[in-house]
Amino acid sequence: MASCLGLYHLSTGDLLRDEVRSGSELGAAARQYMDSGRLVPDEVVLGAVRQRLGTFSANRGFILDGFPRTLPQAIALEQAVEEAGLCLPKAVVIEVSEETLLGRLSGRLTCPQCHAIYHLQAKPPRDERICDNCGTELIRRPDEDARVLGERLRVYAGETEPVRSFYRKRGALVEVSGDGRIEEVSERILSALRLHSHGPLEE
Ligand code: AMP
Repeated sequence: MASCLGLYHLSTGDLLRDEVRSGSELGAAARQYMDSGRLVPDEVVLGAVRQRLGTFSANRGFILDGFPRTLPQAIALEQAVEEAGLCLPKAVVIEVSEETLLGRLSGRLTCPQCHAIYHLQAKPPRDERICDNCGTELIRRPDEDARVLGERLRVYAGETEPVRSFYRKRGALVEVSGDGRIEEVSERILSALRLHSHGPLEE
C-alpha cells in the first residue's frame, strides 16, 4: 500500500528482524524479546525508529507499521512530529477476531530478505517456498508459533490497547474491519482515511 501511495513504509518488526539477522548488538538485545512474544524495550525501538526516520526525505509521508505499540512510543512519536513541524499522525487499527488472526498467522510465509509476505491460501507464492520477488527461501517466523501467540495477544491487550484511546482522544483513530480479501481490506483503509481526513464537511 505504501508504494502505491508514494509513501515510505517502515515496519519496526522488519527493522528489528534485520538487526537480528545482521548479528548487531541491537539485534542481540531484541531477539530474546521477539522470540518470546514480548515487546522490545521502548528505548531500543525508539532509537532504531529515530535513526531510520532520519534517512527519509522530508517531503514524503510514511506509514509506520507495528509502531507505536506502547503509550511512551506514541508520546515520543507525537513529540518528534511536532518538532519536525509535520502534521499529527493518524492511527489505523485493523480489527479481526482471534480465530481469523490464528488462521492468518498459521498460513503466513515471510521472505527474510525483501520482507514480502505470503499466505498459503490467500496469497500463495508461485513456487511453494520461494519468494516471487527475490528468489529467497521463505520462512515461518519463530514468533508465529501457537505458544508464542498467546503471549503476543496478552501483551497487545496490556500494552498496545491503551494506544487506541490515546489516538481516539486526539480524533486521529481510524478503525477498520480486517475481514475479507487483502484488496478489500486495503480499499477499506484507504476510504476510511479519506473520510477521516476530510470529514463530513465535504459531503
Ligand atoms: P511484527 O513484525 O510487527 O509482528 O513484530 C514482531 C515483534 O517485533 C514483536 O512481537 C515485538 O517483539 C517486536 N516489535 C515490533 N515492533 C515493536 C514495537 N513498536 N515496540 C516493541 N517491540 C516491537
